[in-house]
Amino acid sequence: MMSISKALGALTIGVLLSPHLAAKDFVVKDKGAFEATLKRLAPGDAIVLKNGTWQDFEVGFFAEGREGKPVTLRAETPGKVILSGRSNLRLAGNYLVVSGLVFKNGYTPTPEVISFRRDARQVANHSRVTEVVIDAFNNPDRDASDYWVSLYGKHNRFDHNYLAGKRNLGVTMAVRLEGKDSQENHHRIDHNYFGPRPILGSNGGETLRVGTSTYSLTDSHTVIEDNYFDRCNGEVEIISIKSGRNIVRNNVFFESRGTLTLRHGNGNLVEGNVFFGNGVENTGGIRVINRDQTVRNNYLEGLTGTRFGSGFAIMNGRVDAPLNRYSQVLNAHIHNNSFIDVDHMQFGAGKDVERNAPPADSRMENNLILHRTGTKNVVFFDDMRGIRFAGNLVQGVDAELPAGFERAAPGLQRNSAGLLMPQDEAMAQRGAPATLRPIAKAQTGPSWYPKQEPQVAFDSGRSILVDGARENALAQALAQARDGDRLVMAPGRYPIPRLLAIEKVVTIEAKQAGSVVLLPELTTLFEIRNGGALKLVGLHIDGSDSPDSAGNVLIRTQKSGMLFSYRLVLENVEVRNLDVNHSHHVFDAGNRSLAEEIRITGSRFVKISGDVLRLDKELDDLGNYNVESLVLEGNRFAQVEGALASLYRGGTDESTFGPRLAMTRNLVDHVGQGKRNKRQAALYLHGVQLTRIAANEFADSAGIVVEHTVGDPDTEVRGNIFKNVAALKTSELHAKGPSTVRYLENQDERRN
Ligand code: CA
Repeated sequence: MMSISKALGALTIGVLLSPHLAAKDFVVKDKGAFEATLKRLAPGDAIVLKNGTWQDFEVGFFAEGREGKPVTLRAETPGKVILSGRSNLRLAGNYLVVSGLVFKNGYTPTPEVISFRRDARQVANHSRVTEVVIDAFNNPDRDASDYWVSLYGKHNRFDHNYLAGKRNLGVTMAVRLEGKDSQENHHRIDHNYFGPRPILGSNGGETLRVGTSTYSLTDSHTVIEDNYFDRCNGEVEIISIKSGRNIVRNNVFFESRGTLTLRHGNGNLVEGNVFFGNGVENTGGIRVINRDQTVRNNYLEGLTGTRFGSGFAIMNGRVDAPLNRYSQVLNAHIHNNSFIDVDHMQFGAGKDVERNAPPADSRMENNLILHRTGTKNVVFFDDMRGIRFAGNLVQGVDAELPAGFERAAPGLQRNSAGLLMPQDEAMAQRGAPATLRPIAKAQTGPSWYPKQEPQVAFDSGRSILVDGARENALAQALAQARDGDRLVMAPGRYPIPRLLAIEKVVTIEAKQAGSVVLLPELTTLFEIRNGGALKLVGLHIDGSDSPDSAGNVLIRTQKSGMLFSYRLVLENVEVRNLDVNHSHHVFDAGNRSLAEEIRITGSRFVKISGDVLRLDKELDDLGNYNVESLVLEGNRFAQVEGALASLYRGGTDESTFGPRLAMTRNLVDHVGQGKRNKRQAALYLHGVQLTRIAANEFADSAGIVVEHTVGDPDTEVRGNIFKNVAALKTSELHAKGPSTVRYLENQDERRN
């Protein structure tokens, strides 16, 4: 026996006595031993992966346990077994347990990192994956779709796991209902840490999906409880329920940009969940669609989201809607929820020609709706007589409300669980119950794996003086910088004879504003690469020494393969003389790159032969745009032959909040009229979701072109001065109605 074990590279280390047979732990140290040992496992046995890094290991854990005697696959020490490279895990059989593994530094070569099935015929049942980590285990191709976890089979449990940092396309975790053996599945998903998921910038960034529209009239009976959703910002849906009879309870949603959406399927229960938005933009709550949904005892606070991303939205639908559209809300029961400082609550949301049926046979009772700064946050888009309102308390709501809403001053006080509750005893029966206790972050995920912050803030590190006298001082300082460092440049003129790669979060700042001039001598000065974020403060950049070639770029992202989103900030920067040859651009985004934010303030751009911001690299209309939020404030753009900014978001999907543009108090003078500016627009905005152009002055420039596509885009052009500027051009490419662009209080003087 011993010699066979040795020959297999396996060693029996522990013998646990039981009344009937001895359960064994088999420690294996390589893939061959794993395969060989797997065949010998009996109910109650464990196969133990030796500590260390297992490279390119596609684990097929196929075994049969029995009730009370599972077959276990575990790490020798929890957290000390790393699966890296091209690795994954499939489990199939009955009564299996997996624990203690860490997936990092790699990605799955198949459609899933963890799959509760071997193939379409063999699934896992009565099985459990616990204390497993999937940490930024991303396919380097952002467009390559995979799921981190697919639950198939029945009666499986997924608990105390850590899933954070998914950056490529695909739902983080899905409950799959394809096939009878995966329906009415009674899974339990609990105590998991769903850590930060950055904005994907297209559809397919949901954190948890249960079912699909195809199987949405099938019941799933999945329980999702006591999980912590921490900044799950992938797209508009954090959880997308697309099946029936699920329970979503006692979860915390912390600063997550999106909503818990009852998208398809009937008879779901949403209770005891706590949403903390903390005023972060696009934080949403609960969206109700379909029939027999119950939403009770939830607590929602500080949510800013609007429209489909509101703190609460009950939608209009359609009678006999096709499976993939919006069914009418019937028999909804919404009671004892607290909506505190929730900026938007929408009734009959999405009303249009198709979604013409308001909720019916529904009740909304004993909710507490309170806004401490006062707002018109409750909006009815249709006749809501199909909802019986009773006993709802409101304060600070500046909207006309029907009977069933009572004005009151409940005198809220924060309790020991961190929730605001009415002081007035008589009102204690309204809103979320005083017994509600949100799950703590520390109670979720494996205790042995630290929960990391997703992003390093600018200027959070050291300040390092860069001495101008030394050759390549800036390149060397960048090479030695750590995330968050600030490189402070001594006064002087700095010729830059090389490309400066930005692979960290770094600030480059002039010691005194205007005292530092960078003179790029190559076609590109800065290239932002994966992991990089760049902030420039007080620098002057003069392009006079650039090569005499067309198409130079001052700052760009890496041209392809940009998996990480990035930030770019320019404060009080002056860029001039990018005009040695034609088409010298200030910033050029690579195809499929996504800036979380580009913020340019107090800066000047003068004599530019190309474009300032090129954020229009999507060619295939799949909805992969280049910038989430563009902020331009208090800048001057003069003698720019190309466009000030071109933003493009194609496709017909409505899963994203961006792109957004806020442009205020800029001077735009002689911009966009060069013959190479094909669109002849100073600003070209295609599919931008939220646009605010206010208090700017445009003179002798090309005009603004706004093309609205899907997603209820919201554009306002207000209080600007236009002097000798082509008229605003707008078009509705999707809704086919009159333009919804608001053009207000502008002063328009035209010479001919
Ligand atoms: Ca989606």
